[in-house]
Formats: sequence, structure tokens, C-alpha cells
Amino acid sequence: MATIKCIGILTSGGDAPGMNAAIRAVTRSAIYHGFTVKGIMRGYKGLITNEIVDFGSQSVSNIIQLGGTILKTARCSEFTTSEGRKVAYDNMRAAGIDALVVIGGDGSLTGASIFAQEFDVPIIGLPGTIDRDLGGTDHTIGYDTALNTIMESVDKLRDTASSHERLFFVEVMGHTAGYLALNSALASGAEAAIIPEMETEVDQLAELINHGFRKSKNSAIVIVAENPATGGATGLAERVKKEFPQYDARVTILGHLQRGGSPTARDRILASRMGEAAVEAILEGQRNVMIGIEKGELTYVPFSKAINHRKAIDRDDIDLVKILSI
Ligand code: ATP
Repeated sequence: MATIKCIGILTSGGDAPGMNAAIRAVTRSAIYHGFTVKGIMRGYKGLITNEIVDFGSQSVSNIIQLGGTILKTARCSEFTTSEGRKVAYDNMRAAGIDALVVIGGDGSLTGASIFAQEFDVPIIGLPGTIDRDLGGTDHTIGYDTALNTIMESVDKLRDTASSHERLFFVEVMGHTAGYLALNSALASGAEAAIIPEMETEVDQLAELINHGFRKSKNSAIVIVAENPATGGATGLAERVKKEFPQYDARVTILGHLQRGGSPTARDRILASRMGEAAVEAILEGQRNVMIGIEKGELTYVPFSKAINHRKAIDRDDIDLVKILSI
């Protein structure tokens, strides 16, 4: 393997709070260890359109507290073609980049895995996604901030729900994964979480309403993970309105506000540790692995595991929401 002198960094897919902290950590650790660093703008798109800039330690000053990503991000269909990836590779080599650090979700790491195999490029991935839908890691950068944002929003909705005695369906992101919905339900004391990992039938809602809402409560919050298959919160609320017209059911879709905001301390620390670990991985000759964290320890997770082996939802947590909502 040729000596690595220059590391390129990009952020790809949906933005996640803490991506800037990760960019900062990778840049500064790389410079500390004697590498040169280039920032690639707009994810894979910037590799194809050749938007590559020199990065020094001051390029990442004063960004640890910022949401979003200073490198910008994009979804890039051209990179899913071999012709697009060839252009990306040629530009990367012309810029003198020997290895890449890719910060993004499962789609971005799928792209990284294909690119790495096709052109023998060393790539280290960092799990940057609010969805927490990657395998081999207990946490992803941005998840904790999004969870806190949802919790604060639901706290506010609770005031209205209880004052007006309403049933609120609150839709949260998750990209077909229920972690954000389930854990935000726990954190906000919601009456139920409807997640893609569980069968969602009108019967379950009926049970919830009859045994929880009607019996002992005059308002309720149900957190619903986005899910095109069920129509998400809107679809469920419509079904409830039809079957239980006596309830004042309302829908709130939190949408993109879940992505924004200043990262929590937990996300900043995670991003800093993972960013430094990405550079350590390159120094150790690792390639095509994602940095994960399990039981507090940083690990190297092969891309195939990160992409294909999402962690199972903890059934105890599903039960816990039920137990605590009586
Ligand atoms: P999030 O978790 O926030 O949705 P993500 O990384 O999963 O982030 P995607 O839109 O799925 O976001 O993927 C980001 C980019 O990764 C895509 O726009 C594309 O450029 C690249 N990518 C995704 N899948 C592939 C693939 N199969 N082959 C090559 N590139 C891919």
C-alpha cells in the first residue's frame, strides 16, 4: 500500500448535529500526526465536480458548537454509477488525496464501500446520522441531539395536549428505524411508540385508547416513527378519527427541525473521539471500516456489518413504555 500523506474528508447524506465536531477532530488529529488535509464540499457530489479545498487547523476553528456541516452535504445519484465514481476517483487522485474519511449514514457508507473496492482506496467511515440505523455501534453522531430536540418538542406539545384534552400523534424521523421514536417516547413519557419493528394495527391503537387513554387519562401523546408503509402519524390519526370519532386526534410532524441545532455535549464528545479514532485507524493501516462504539469502547466495524446488521430494538424498552404509561 502506498504511503498515505493526504486525507480527504467529506460529509454525505442527511446532515446530523456533531458532523462539524467530527470534521474538526479528523482535521486536527490528522494535522497533529503529520498528514495534510483536504475538505471535499457537498459529499460525493464535490468529488465529482471537483470542489476540493485545502484544510488547515484554523479551517475548523469555532465550529464544534455548530449544527449542520461546514462541508455541506448532498445526495448524489451520479456517484451510484461506475462512470460517476471514476470521475470522483480521478479528481481525488489529482488533488493528491490518498485516503478518505466519510461521515454519513448507511447510504453514504454503502457508497464508500463500493468506491473502496472498485478503486482500492482506503476509506474510514464515521457514523453521522440522527437515525442510529447502523450496525456495530451503540450510538451515531447526531442521534443524541435529535433525541433531545424531540423530547423538548414533545414536552411543549404535552402542555397543549393536556390543556385541550387531545390525543396527539407526533411523527419523528428514523428512516424505517424505530430507535428515535422509542427512546423519545421513553424520554418524554409518551403513552405509546408506534415503530416499524412492530406490527401496527388499529387493534393496538384501540387497546391503547381503551386501556390507557380512556381509562385514566384525558390526553395522550403517541410517538410515531416515519413509515411510508403505514402513512406515518397522519395515516394512523385518520384511522383513529374514523374508528373513535369521540377523540380529538391531532398530528404534529416534527420534520427537519429534528436535524438542526447545536450538538449536545454527548454528540460533541462522541464526534471528537470518533474523529481522532479515524486518523488512528489510518495510521494503523485499517481500511474500509467504520468507527463504532460499543459499551463505551471504540471499535472498527467492517462496512458490510455497519450497513447490513442494524442493531435490534430492545423489546424491554417497548414494554417499558407500556408499563410506565398506565
Ligand atoms: P441519512 O442516514 O441521513 O439518510 P445516508 O448516508 O443514509 O444519510 P443517503 O441519501 O442514503 O444518505 O446516501 C447518501 C449518498 O451516498 C447518496 O446520495 C449517494 O451519493 C451515496 N450512495 C448511497 N447508496 C449508494 C450506492 N448503492 N452506491 C453508491 N453510492 C451510494
